[in-house]
Amino acid sequence: MILKYRSFFRKHLINFLSTSAKPNAGIHILNGHFLSLKNDTPPEIFHKLLESLKGYGVKFIDFEEAAFKIKNREFPQNDCLVAFTWDDGFEECFSKIKPVLDYWDLKAGFFINPNFIDGDQNYKENFKKNVVLTDKNPMSWPMIQQLLEEGHTIGAHTLDHLSLKTDDLGFLKHQIEGSKKRIEEQLGVEVIHFAFPFGQLKYISEVAVEVACKTFPYVYSQDNYRHYFSFDGRIINRRHFECDWPLNHVLYFLKSKSL
Ligand SMILES: [Zn+2]
Repeated sequence: MILKYRSFFRKHLINFLSTSAKPNAGIHILNGHFLSLKNDTPPEIFHKLLESLKGYGVKFIDFEEAAFKIKNREFPQNDCLVAFTWDDGFEECFSKIKPVLDYWDLKAGFFINPNFIDGDQNYKENFKKNVVLTDKNPMSWPMIQQLLEEGHTIGAHTLDHLSLKTDDLGFLKHQIEGSKKRIEEQLGVEVIHFAFPFGQLKYISEVAVEVACKTFPYVYSQDNYRHYFSFDGRIINRRHFECDWPLNHVLYFLKSKSL
């Protein structure tokens, strides 16, 4: 009977400790796409998530600082450092997410598809309906220019957001090098960050990794989050999140140790 009570208390003590445990020391790049899939979610939801994470001891750092530290294997021993990126370049990154980042004085990374911005109405409708599966519109070049001028990072995400699970070198060069060239031509800065579309390692071929790493010093997935790197240290792994996710879902990732 006593033993039974003891194991009962032990089990509940472990549950209590795990919900109160601090996030693990490390650096995490959290990657999202929008504020929320719904269009009427207020930006405060992201602000509240940041406040709650801060309450758990999370420290926020600028994206470029996080990328540099990870690439140079400068992993913190005690702090849980978190930086943010967003893929696909949706308009609400500018109108809803940027104001929250401004409040927190935080610089993030935005990975964009040039043809989603440059394309005609038909292209954009097809992109939304069949590629990224949302009705959200892209940011304009002036919005992206402003993000850049305010210290955020603009990265490439291919021209058309197609799967790069192919060995077709011409296609890969067109999508990867082409997106770098178009963004640089428009913004007048060097683009050194690239994120694979769809993020998962199963959508990335070895040839695609070679082309991306030859073109960009910083290349990212959104997969394999328990490890800092994939493809023999050549790809930096980011962790998926969205601004309106429940706190516990985000904390779950931050509590797992990165290797
Ligand atoms: Zn994407």
